Amino acid sequence: MPPTSDPTASPGPPAVWRVAVPVPLARLFDYLPAPGEQARDAHVGCRVRVPFGSRELVGVIAQVAPRDPDAPEPKPALALLDGAPLFAGELLESLQWLARYTHAPLGEVFATALPAPLRHGEPLPDSRSWAWRLTEAGQTALAGLRAGKPRALATLLSRNPLDEDALDDASPGWRAAARALGKRALVERYPLHAAPTAHADTPISPFTLGEGQRAAVDAVLAARDGFAALLLDGVTGSGKTEVYLQAIADCLARGKQALVLVPEIGLTPQTLARFRARLGVPVHALHSGLSDGERARTWAAAARGDARVVVGTRSSVFLPLPEAGLLVVDEEHDGSFKQLDGIRYHARDFALVRAKALGVPVLLGSATPSLESLRNAQAGRYAHLRLRERAGVALPPSVRVVDVRKRPLEAGLSPELFEAVSQALAAGGQVLVFKNRRGYAPVLLCHDCGWSAQCQRCDAPMTVHAGGHRLQCHHCGARRPAPNACPDCGGLALQSQGAGTERIEEALLARFPGVPVLRIDRGSTQRRDAMEAMLAKFGREPGILVGTQMLAKGHDLPNLTLVAVVGIDEGLFSADFRAPEKLAQLLVQVAGRAGRAEKAGLVLLQTHHPEHPLLATLLSGGYGAFAQAELVQREDAGFPPFTHMAMFRAEATEVTVANAFLLAARRTLEAAVPAADASTLEINGPLPAPMPRRAGYQRTQLLISAPDRRQLHATLTAALPAVHALPEARKVRWSLDVDPVDL
Ligand code: ADP
Ligand code: ZN
Ligand code: ZN
Repeated sequence: MPPTSDPTASPGPPAVWRVAVPVPLARLFDYLPAPGEQARDAHVGCRVRVPFGSRELVGVIAQVAPRDPDAPEPKPALALLDGAPLFAGELLESLQWLARYTHAPLGEVFATALPAPLRHGEPLPDSRSWAWRLTEAGQTALAGLRAGKPRALATLLSRNPLDEDALDDASPGWRAAARALGKRALVERYPLHAAPTAHADTPISPFTLGEGQRAAVDAVLAARDGFAALLLDGVTGSGKTEVYLQAIADCLARGKQALVLVPEIGLTPQTLARFRARLGVPVHALHSGLSDGERARTWAAAARGDARVVVGTRSSVFLPLPEAGLLVVDEEHDGSFKQLDGIRYHARDFALVRAKALGVPVLLGSATPSLESLRNAQAGRYAHLRLRERAGVALPPSVRVVDVRKRPLEAGLSPELFEAVSQALAAGGQVLVFKNRRGYAPVLLCHDCGWSAQCQRCDAPMTVHAGGHRLQCHHCGARRPAPNACPDCGGLALQSQGAGTERIEEALLARFPGVPVLRIDRGSTQRRDAMEAMLAKFGREPGILVGTQMLAKGHDLPNLTLVAVVGIDEGLFSADFRAPEKLAQLLVQVAGRAGRAEKAGLVLLQTHHPEHPLLATLLSGGYGAFAQAELVQREDAGFPPFTHMAMFRAEATEVTVANAFLLAARRTLEAAVPAADASTLEINGPLPAPMPRRAGYQRTQLLISAPDRRQLHATLTAALPAVHALPEARKVRWSLDVDPVDL
């Protein structure tokens, strides 16, 4: 036989890798394959290290294409980093969709989707779960160990081996003890294979589901063979989590993976422990409190199918799910699902896109659904599942509005409020005083001349902190000592106006000596674990919690019988069209904290505007009635969800420079609007941002809206290359936000 040529060698010009590089340029870059490699289609989705200008970057191969013979010879890539693609199939397609939808460079979208170590080119880590057991030597030595943490751990492990998640739950800080014992070979670490572990193979038997819960679970199960969006609309405590758990259990029983997205503040150890105790498989948590290494391990575990259940915050929506069966978005209305910088994605919306591409159901749960989701339910795009009552024996709280006009207030608190607190404490209950403003007081004012302390770099007053001794800007972080005398008139009549959580704490401590008062806000608790530890220590004895919206959800507080809400009035008159929705959601969520168990709860709402329509509707008809009324107003005013928006934002030290860019962008956009859309697509601006100056930058914005998403995107797609190329663009910091939430 004559020798044949190599059948794998392609006859045309050699192929190149077209790489998505994490730079703010919306195009791919061609590279010759790295030394020793040939460009193959199977490389799409693999990471590659490439030279870029004077730097080396990690990009992702987006295409393999024949080399353009007319173009100059591309540089060779430095190294292929993956043997198999990190992004493939559904995830690859969904991320490509996201890049088109956000009009962002694909390379930046890939980078956003990866945990830091993978983004920087490190190999996919070992993703096994690990457990610990006592060795034979450990068994023998146990009796002779000195009292202390190592002995406590050894005793725990002598009953049965435990996986590391279970150890985190059972015995925080166990790692040091494990290391000490490990050095003496008394304990050993071994890998698990996604198999149920000791703590998990005794799932607590589920309750008998209520009627609404049953119907909801049945609806999810009936939809499990394809894409479906289901809105689970149920008050706090109505048993939504129970519905998730049953739907996930079914998903696991069919050998599928489940992903649960939760707001940052909702991912408490209690929630995780509940999932772990019930599901019988390791439950992976993914949130900002983890190390980069842990995040990369979870990503790898999801990619390999080792992670069967992941409960995580916003960025978990990027996890690969090769065996997906169900996506859940808990508290789907929560603002933390929207990323406010970089790639401005909305995790709930992207979860819907992924569920559709994966062909699995997505369950959106909330006590206060977003108007977007309610609208989708009404239009028949989502199934609307309702849980109308609290589960088990818990009763709904009663709500009392306290009209504080002309009432003497102390730190903003009325005599009625103090009285109610005193009664709740006497009855053995706990109290939450909710005020969405941290610090001592929002303003420092000179009573002689009217001077007030303003931030020098922002258009905002500085907040008084530390009992009046320090000023701090909540927008740029600037700090300075509070002056002793007025800088303008020299007078000594400086007064802290209004009350933040610090001042309320002070007033409550003075009024209720001997009663524990715990303040929870971003000033008192930087880290979530700190908040957990504080709340755990607070316990169930009578006491008072003072806090901001950090306390609106999360950690279960079964002995909370009174929730007092103060200082909501400014939210009633905000210019942001979403303010009523946000305020109503916050009020309902905080109120839902009262009386979760046998004890009935009371919610006290202090206001100067007891007749305000928002409060009236909320009180008489609940969140559903409010949302209905609000949707009508949004439709009349032409706001989302009835229109679709995109926002260009620009920042510069000179306002004229920022405006010059947006004006040029506006002209570019106007020239790009297809004739058919010209009458319905609206462009507004440039206008000053809600806070026109922040951290020394002047901020302006340009808003585009259209009744139809396609119109919006057609114009953006047509105009953006020219907008990027504008000479004015190089003089400003600018960004595009599709579906902006803060206008
Ligand atoms: P949500 O997620 O809607 O706030 P949960 O699922 O956390 O509600 O349920 C609230 C409380 O009621 C929890 O303590 C839960 O254990 C309990 N619960 C849930 N479903 C039932 C049920 N069918 N019967 C009795 N108790 C239930
Ligand atoms: Zn003065
Ligand atoms: Zn500032």
